[in-house]
Amino acid sequence: MIIGSHVNFGNEQLLGSTKQAISYGANTFMFYTGAPQNTIRKAITPDLTKAAWQLMQEAGIDLDKVICHAPYIINLANKEKADSRNFSISFLKNEIKRVGELGVKYIVVHPGNYLKQDLSQALANIAEALNYILNPTDEVMILLETMAGKGTECGKTMSEIKTILDQVNLKDKVGVCLDTCHLNDSGVDIAKFGAYLDEFAQLIGLEKIKCVHINDSKNPLGTHKDRHENIGFGTIGFANLLNVIYEPRLKDIPKILETPYVEDKAPYGAEIAMIKKQTFNPLLKEELNKK
Ligand code: FE
Ligand code: FE
Ligand code: ZN
Repeated sequence: MIIGSHVNFGNEQLLGSTKQAISYGANTFMFYTGAPQNTIRKAITPDLTKAAWQLMQEAGIDLDKVICHAPYIINLANKEKADSRNFSISFLKNEIKRVGELGVKYIVVHPGNYLKQDLSQALANIAEALNYILNPTDEVMILLETMAGKGTECGKTMSEIKTILDQVNLKDKVGVCLDTCHLNDSGVDIAKFGAYLDEFAQLIGLEKIKCVHINDSKNPLGTHKDRHENIGFGTIGFANLLNVIYEPRLKDIPKILETPYVEDKAPYGAEIAMIKKQTFNPLLKEELNKK
């Protein structure tokens, strides 16, 4: 099982992320190269990167499974605001370089919001932007995340994801990141995850799935909300999430927790322990609060 959580990047950059992942008992992780909410980014420091690689090797963390996530404000779908779209395109081009320097292979991107345009135009805009961004020599793959469908979010159905992928020229440079909270909120019943994967295999191909975000949801099926809950404390439930985590067809795919902090405490160490034990701990939040 390859499991971890999102972690900070901070002053020690990839080395700091690696240390944090190890402290959670994780064997992979996902990071943002700066704050998720903004696009201010510092240059990568090679010495810190080398130290991170060394530590990963010692800790048994496979660099090929480590994931980067692009900031939330990137929007490739909307052509009405040309400035913001052009900025998103140039940011992602630079991010591919930065992430390449770190030796990381994947960047998760939210496909975008279509605002006042129609959906099919927005999906075409996303693919067009990806065609500007991606180069044959890139060693980094962009993963489109399945979204909850909050507001005018693109990528809330398998067919929307497929429509984007079909229009991208460099097919081997794009993949998919599933998110269990987003799937639930978009209307996919995680209790029937096997059937979802069957359909995915037919329509897109399971080899396109390179990352799975494991989150419970605060909201019922199909409510298009996108509010994450701690593992086993939401509407998806522990057993259904375990089925996703231990799904044999996704065995080698990194599973990343993006569950909320409990007060000011990171829940990831406790959640990973609970997942490894395969036993739900209903007192997890109380125990974290006492720490
Ligand atoms: Fe995301
Ligand atoms: Fe996610
Ligand atoms: Zn989310």
